[in-house]
Amino acid sequence: MLTIGVYTSGGDAPGMNATVRAVVRMAHSHNANVIGIRSGYTGMIENDFVPLDLRSVANVIQRGGTFLKTGRCPEFLQPENRKIAFDNLVKAGINALVCIGGDGSFRGAHALNQEYKIPVIGVPGTIDNDIYGTDFTIGFDTAVNTALEAIDRIRDTATSHNRIFIVEVMGRDSGYLALDVGIAGGAQEIFIPEEINDINNCIQRLKDSIKNGKQYSIFVAAEGQKPGRAYDLCDAIKKKTGLDAKVCILGHIQRGGSPTARDRVIASALGAGAVDALLRGESDKMAGIRDGKLVLVPLADAISKRPPVRKDKILLARILSS
Ligand code: ADP
Repeated sequence: MLTIGVYTSGGDAPGMNATVRAVVRMAHSHNANVIGIRSGYTGMIENDFVPLDLRSVANVIQRGGTFLKTGRCPEFLQPENRKIAFDNLVKAGINALVCIGGDGSFRGAHALNQEYKIPVIGVPGTIDNDIYGTDFTIGFDTAVNTALEAIDRIRDTATSHNRIFIVEVMGRDSGYLALDVGIAGGAQEIFIPEEINDINNCIQRLKDSIKNGKQYSIFVAAEGQKPGRAYDLCDAIKKKTGLDAKVCILGHIQRGGSPTARDRVIASALGAGAVDALLRGESDKMAGIRDGKLVLVPLADAISKRPPVRKDKILLARILSS
């Protein structure tokens, strides 16, 4: 009898609940059981389990965050704690896992699989869209749309005052969110952690566009290693141009909110796909979407490779906003 342990781990993302719902409903349609593990790996170590029947996931498809809770669990990096976690899983009758999270969470799932041979399937849930092997991660579309709504409002005040705005979006190590938000928000410049966008060149382009009659401008910057990077850009612009520039850091509002239709559809397909993969005897893989089709990618690849950086989007934003 298949009993799947499902958990959400790492940073929360809109659509995680829709994924858990899909796992539960798909599993029950195949007479498999599902047990929820609360707070990611912490719940595994602390025995925090909850049986999930069909009705337990009613009315969650539209909810942001994760009702199973999530968390970071540094203890899980130690093999002795993974042994405790595995023993708890066995005691609870769990004989397969669906891990919903980012690459860090997948590292934990991969380690468990390697050490104890428990079948695991990962589902990419992160607003960053920075997982190799899938075109989309669950939560990305919602976060892009949330940031976009904010930019549209900022644009109103930017045009009214002829101002430059630097909008900082999330993305410590990855600029995928900034790239799509920048293109969709009509940003003049995009700054991402993977690529240096020389500020002096940006300022020259800004001056040129002002000469051409542009009266306001929006820059989108991924936060980089620490939030507040936008303030450095703002200071540089003020110093080198004397122009008034304002900063808006979007921060955690990008994580919350009801998932978009696209995120719900992806969450439903990937959650169900993960269960289907386990039923077919697949393991140590991530369920992803590529070219509109469900694919299984080795977890080893998902955690060791990076999707290509789309530098072309920086250029595209620049050309289209000139
Ligand atoms: P995300 O899944 O969003 O990338 P994190 O990088 O914080 O988030 O990872 C989530 C959790 O996964 C960590 O708190 C830890 O419990 C577990 N984890 C991360 N890396 C490893 C690893 N190398 N070995 C075992 N567990 C890991």
